[in-house]
Amino acid sequence: MNEQPAAAPGPVARLIEEFYKLPGVGPKSAQRLTYYLLRMPAAEARALAEAILDVKERITFGSVCQNVTDTIPCRICDIHRRERTMICVVEEPMDILAVERSRSYRGLYHVLHGAISPMDGIGPEELKIEELLARLRTNEATEVILATNPNLEGEATAMYLTRLLRPLGLRITRLARGLPVGGDLEYADDVTLTRAMEGRQEVTD
Ligand SMILES: [Zn+2]
Repeated sequence: MNEQPAAAPGPVARLIEEFYKLPGVGPKSAQRLTYYLLRMPAAEARALAEAILDVKERITFGSVCQNVTDTIPCRICDIHRRERTMICVVEEPMDILAVERSRSYRGLYHVLHGAISPMDGIGPEELKIEELLARLRTNEATEVILATNPNLEGEATAMYLTRLLRPLGLRITRLARGLPVGGDLEYADDVTLTRAMEGRQEVTD
């Protein structure tokens, strides 16, 4: 008979389980993080726990752009010197940070909160696409920049949006190639991102 491994005490097992639910965290990392926290000074652990609760309590999704925000409207929607005729459509709030860091864009954003991925059971209705359509019908946008990731899901999403938005008569552009294929926008360096933004091309489907 196989010997059962000694089980970790309840609270330890519970924390390992919670870490394991996070993206990119395997069972080994979940254990490592848990035992790291066990050795951490209580004040530091408390600061971490409080930071988690704080984002859950104070941060919401912007009602217009769907970006994460603690103000309504969010800081970007609220800045009047931003170009209001352009909307850059991204998958995740992190992508906005990447584009902002590159300083290559002065327009508005729309966060989809994901990409179309039939394999993961994510269809268009799971994304903030209705919100984008509603917005485009009433605002002053003349160009939509599709800045979804340069991978399978991102391309499929861009294609879907192109067909959907075509009847609205807007200029539809896609970031230029040159971004690392298969990668995420959020990992692209500033120079590459700036080039991709400046070289964006009209989508002809
Ligand atoms: Zn906003």
